[in-house]
Amino acid sequence: SLILSVQDLTAEIEGKPILKGLNLEIKSGEIHAIMGPNGSGKSTFSKILAGHPDYTVTGGEILYLGQNLLEMEPEERARAGVFLAFQYPVEIPGVSNVDFLRIAYNARQKYRDQPELDALDFDDFVREKLGIVKMDPAFLDRSVNEGFSGGEKKRNEILQMAILEPTLAILDETDSGLDIDALRTVANGINHLATPDNAMLLITHYQRLLDYVTPDYVHVMEGGRIVTSGDKTLALELEERGYDWIRDQDPAIA
Ligand code: ADP
Ligand code: MG
Ligand code: MG
Repeated sequence: SLILSVQDLTAEIEGKPILKGLNLEIKSGEIHAIMGPNGSGKSTFSKILAGHPDYTVTGGEILYLGQNLLEMEPEERARAGVFLAFQYPVEIPGVSNVDFLRIAYNARQKYRDQPELDALDFDDFVREKLGIVKMDPAFLDRSVNEGFSGGEKKRNEILQMAILEPTLAILDETDSGLDIDALRTVANGINHLATPDNAMLLITHYQRLLDYVTPDYVHVMEGGRIVTSGDKTLALELEERGYDWIRDQDPAIA
């Protein structure tokens, strides 16, 4: 079934048009990758999906599970299962990671009419999930992301995803800056969490992550829209030939 449907989306920031007619459909059970050169609008798109207030949608529509996503507040989107890894890497001094996760988890549970967990039960629940990202339990008691290394923040993102069980997970450059072990751990986490009922949108400049997570579809974004789509072989072709090759094929791209 259809999880996300984006039709002719246009958006701007501070009066500057960034997205220029983006179309995308994602069904349950699918893993999609969006690739593209720097500045093509990938992060803009992911932030608009999450409801970032800096961006203004000027046209088109986004349906999430048949609902008008653009009418939902960012918090409601999160509770409804839209997860943007980028939403949470902020440091929150004084709030332990485990408390933060429990608050987010319980908000999601409430939304889906499922029981909330108290601190003790949540502790058991979260400890079971730590293995997925090979995370030391000591991280749970530290303040959210405070003093975490880049790799630890990314593992923490996957942990958040494991706990919140999103219906649509958007991972924007989750692979950037990871050493090979952390990349494998993150990739294993993604593979473990991908189910027939959810969908993953991996946004990445390089195809490195796609050596470990096989996407069903690869899209190339350029100049604020998706200009080419294919299967995983497209990612390999891009790695080999670069993005200029796509640009040369499409005279509409300035
Ligand atoms: P990508 O993630 O593909 O590298 P972005 O979505 O980050 O691309 O950026 C797309 C374009 O939007 C770039 O030209 C960038 O400079 C511009 N842009 C993004 N965020 C802002 C902002 N906060 N203010 C002004 N311009 C921005
Ligand atoms: Mg980006
Ligand atoms: Mg799968």
